[in-house]
Amino acid sequence: MINFIGTGSAFNTQLGNNSAYIKKDSHFVLFDCGSTVFSRLVSLNLIDDVSDLNIIITHTHPDHIGSLGELIFYSHYIKNLIPKILFPDKKLIDMILGSMGVNNEFYRVINSENTVINNSNFTMEVSFRKCSHVDSIPSYGILFKLGGFTLYYSGDSNSVDTFVLEGLEKGSIDFLYQDTCGIDYDLNPHLYLGRLEKLIKPELRHKVYCMHTDSQFNRDEAVKMGFNVVEAVIDFKSMP
Ligand SMILES: [Zn+2]
Ligand SMILES: [Zn+2]
Repeated sequence: MINFIGTGSAFNTQLGNNSAYIKKDSHFVLFDCGSTVFSRLVSLNLIDDVSDLNIIITHTHPDHIGSLGELIFYSHYIKNLIPKILFPDKKLIDMILGSMGVNNEFYRVINSENTVINNSNFTMEVSFRKCSHVDSIPSYGILFKLGGFTLYYSGDSNSVDTFVLEGLEKGSIDFLYQDTCGIDYDLNPHLYLGRLEKLIKPELRHKVYCMHTDSQFNRDEAVKMGFNVVEAVIDFKSMP
């Protein structure tokens, strides 16, 4: 349903920062803009023909907003467009971008928890859901409807909310994209694969995609359990 330009956790430099996108004609929706994301967007020419750029931010850790300033500058100076940033806390975004010298006229913040990206031939309903990640900053998972499907993108989270588990069970959520890691320790801000295994019944695992994986994550083990593991649109390791 959605494409990825990076699938790794903050320190998984091989896979790049986890970031997904949806592209339809000149409409582009980006999920997070971590440090490695802007250069990949440009090197893949993904936004060359884009006139409507929507950037959903799950939270403000560097692996999720590290290159947001560059993308906004690029949008203004090269593309001559104003990107929309979807994030419930406008003050926080303005403060971070302002401290980087990004003019607040170069972007627009849509700070509603429920919003509809609605253009002539592209409609997507987006809802932000507070999730459990770290205490220092607000973190959200994204529930969205697109093309008749309902999907949940966990952002960074160390749990799966009851409403998501129930949604998968009842069929009101078709697919779950879940932050999953390969190490387990107390106060882990991410969800260890073994915990995900306990949370999701075997018959529902084909609806679950592991993402934001660290270098300890074992893809084969996850697949054996019945989960999917996201892959980037191209293998960046093979790029010069
Ligand atoms: Zn995070
Ligand atoms: Zn992260």
